[in-house]
Amino acid sequence: MAQLGFYGSAGIVTGSNFLVEDSRGTKIVVDCGLFQGDFDANKLNAQPFAYKAAEVSAVVLTHAHLDHIGRLPILVKDGFRGKIFATSATLELTQIVLKDAYDVMLSNHEQDGAPLLYDQPDIKRTFDLMQAMPYKTRTEIASGIFASLYDAGHILGSASVLIEADGKKILFSGDIGHAPSTLLPHAQTPELADAIVTEATYGGVDRTLKHDRLTVLHDAVNWIVQNRGVLLIPAFSVERSQELLYLFNHLYNQHKLPKVPIFLDSPLAIEALEVFERHQQLFKKDVQQERQTDTEIFDFKGLFLTPTSAESKEINDTLAPKVIIAGSGMMAGGRIMHHLKRYLSRKDCLLLVIGYQAEGTLGSKIVDGARSVFLMGDEIPIRAKVEVVDAFSGHADNKELIDWIKGVKLSPNGKVFIVHSEPDRALAFNEELELLLPSITVEVAENNKVVEI
Ligand SMILES: [Zn+2]
Repeated sequence: MAQLGFYGSAGIVTGSNFLVEDSRGTKIVVDCGLFQGDFDANKLNAQPFAYKAAEVSAVVLTHAHLDHIGRLPILVKDGFRGKIFATSATLELTQIVLKDAYDVMLSNHEQDGAPLLYDQPDIKRTFDLMQAMPYKTRTEIASGIFASLYDAGHILGSASVLIEADGKKILFSGDIGHAPSTLLPHAQTPELADAIVTEATYGGVDRTLKHDRLTVLHDAVNWIVQNRGVLLIPAFSVERSQELLYLFNHLYNQHKLPKVPIFLDSPLAIEALEVFERHQQLFKKDVQQERQTDTEIFDFKGLFLTPTSAESKEINDTLAPKVIIAGSGMMAGGRIMHHLKRYLSRKDCLLLVIGYQAEGTLGSKIVDGARSVFLMGDEIPIRAKVEVVDAFSGHADNKELIDWIKGVKLSPNGKVFIVHSEPDRALAFNEELELLLPSITVEVAENNKVVEI
């Protein structure tokens, strides 16, 4: 009997962290994510782990989003000295994301006294423990405990993780991608499992995306050309920003991209772009084929990368029409704030909202129709055209999650645990799974609870 403990993303979306312990007391952790969002995330992140970090033999990461990796340096600070396993793309992205997260933590600390959870040497030590692991290669990660990774189609390098301990197979979904993804293949699963720990970000919600990604971008650029305006696209730095460049490159190759400068104004996205370029073998078949005629799938005439703040400021001097892609995706910080302050009050600005806007963020206020917002101390009236499109999504919806689970043959006493979800969505998904799998025990996972598999 293996034991499975839930120490984050149970009853909420963020802070993914699970502990598996076998009958000999060997412990491994899957994901070590940061709590994020409106609730008291700072307090939760500062709480000690419920288990002894030094007793954990290994960590496996599903993917490089902060809510799956952000507490790793704290685990190392607390004494973890085992190996950190993930795909090489995930490990490279994790390094970039953690370095950026440290800078954000430092500036939050200076601005409003947010806690410093770890320091730079902890990050360095974290990097030293990393060990790459390919997809579909069963690997002994700790004495008698094995892990295998399956492409989750969510972001570059993302994986679902199958852990084998005491002869039991526990499958952790990680985040499952929405298909078809622009760049990545469909999510895959192992054939068999005794338990599944599944995300349910969009549990109970079926979404057929109405908009076509290329058409959305094409129309938006044409609008600012006609209005001699500015197109602002707040975008997540990993995957979404690179996806936008790929799509703009596609329009360029089809001679559909008007002559406008496009700025990628995000140091994190620019650094991540190098990882995408290094791991192109992970892209889906169509993209691989396209690379045979255009080797630079993220680059085109008119694209400008602006990593330094001096370069970023120079964007202001470029005459409209122009396109600016910048983070953060939820307009909760980052360089997009400066551009919003400058352009939101202008009628010739088009703000294209393509990502999920969590409640309480500036992005959600704008999407909900605020007439003005406070930006860096000033009230800015919103006269820009705000367009919200659903073409871009990194998460599987209800039907896709169910199809993913149906792809796995659960053992007769199989169990499914629902995590990574708002409570109402988790319950909706629970109801649906109970109908679908009447012989299987389905439950919404509870924080700090340990179950036997
Ligand atoms: Zn994710």
